[in-house]
Amino acid sequence: MDEVLSAARSVDPSRFGDRTLCDACLGRLFGKIGHGYTNHVRGRAVRELLHVDTGPCWVCEDLTSRYDALSDLVVRKLEPWEFDSFAIGSKIDSEVAAREESLWAELALGGPEPLKAEVNREIGKRVSDRLGKEPDLAHPDVVAIVDTAFDHVDVQVNSLYLRGRYRKLVRGVPQTRWPCRRCMGKGCARCGGAGKMYPTSVEEVIANEVLRESGGTGHALHGMGREDVDARMLGRGRPFIIEIKEPRRRHFDLGGAIAGINASGIVEVDGLAPARGTDVVPLKEDRAAKTYRVLLRMAPPVEEAKLKSTLPVLVAEPIAQRTPERVVHRRADTIRHRRLLAAEVVGVDGDRAELRVTAEAGTYVKEWVHGDRGRTRPSLAERLDAACEVLELDVLDVHDDG
Ligand SMILES: [Zn+2]
Ligand SMILES: [Zn+2]
Repeated sequence: MDEVLSAARSVDPSRFGDRTLCDACLGRLFGKIGHGYTNHVRGRAVRELLHVDTGPCWVCEDLTSRYDALSDLVVRKLEPWEFDSFAIGSKIDSEVAAREESLWAELALGGPEPLKAEVNREIGKRVSDRLGKEPDLAHPDVVAIVDTAFDHVDVQVNSLYLRGRYRKLVRGVPQTRWPCRRCMGKGCARCGGAGKMYPTSVEEVIANEVLRESGGTGHALHGMGREDVDARMLGRGRPFIIEIKEPRRRHFDLGGAIAGINASGIVEVDGLAPARGTDVVPLKEDRAAKTYRVLLRMAPPVEEAKLKSTLPVLVAEPIAQRTPERVVHRRADTIRHRRLLAAEVVGVDGDRAELRVTAEAGTYVKEWVHGDRGRTRPSLAERLDAACEVLELDVLDVHDDG
């Protein structure tokens, strides 16, 4: 406490005039000096030295005596929500903050602490004691914002994130909910009132099951890339994070949710594990190579031997792809440069061929096959000197582990 007293000695007591301050507001003037004391204790130690009387507090209007009551209010408002970690925020009346700052200036102080910081900490300590949960400023599940002027608490509930890998077993299902192009989701004749282009999506199948267990007001699916609507996603599946907005519960039977997803016949997941919001951007930015199964029709038919000799040559060549015709209406018309990492013939049957192709992230594989009327070069069609039509495309693996 010696450092606090010595700092107080350098303040001219006459500058307080006839203002009265509570212990906490007095102590907070030296709040960043010395460790292990509450501002309340600091205030009691310096009061006599500075000749400041107790009385209605000129700075906080006795807000600092209401921490217990405000903490009760926070605990009540948090009751409906299940959470492991929390943070306290506060809104301090601007006139209170202005009085505090004017006092700092008048006293020419070196280490004052703002009231807001004390409010957050003191309420945080009390709520932590009451609930047996730790404040966590970096990754709180819930944030209680205390408006000290109106004794009002707003609760901000942060999303729940779960990660996994999904397989999409059927074609004709988009990864995420696709709002109807005509009505933009409101419902119209074209979409039969559903407001969407497809009856369901990978996102909806997964989110509906997780929502059933967790409660919540909405969802989002963040995928490591996405396959075409008409492509299946097989093998180990594609890494994703499902985000549930404003969940009521965070600990529930994951096995039940997984069983529900797997019973859909549309989507399968092997497991779901906790994740954080900060995991979403790295997941989406991952540039994983993908392995595809391609079933194509060749006109005229091409002999297996010719396919087998052509593929190794193509693997070695850089591919230049102008934005495909099928997506150029929604993406800039630019040129992408990609490479195949592997390509092999699985089988040839008449005019049909099945290939297994591994390509860098972002390769337009269908266009590499048919050439997109010369927008992708080289292409398989160009080198075989045959029209190639993709009949089926499946993703067999997402190589996120290198
Ligand atoms: Zn005060
Ligand atoms: Zn519609």
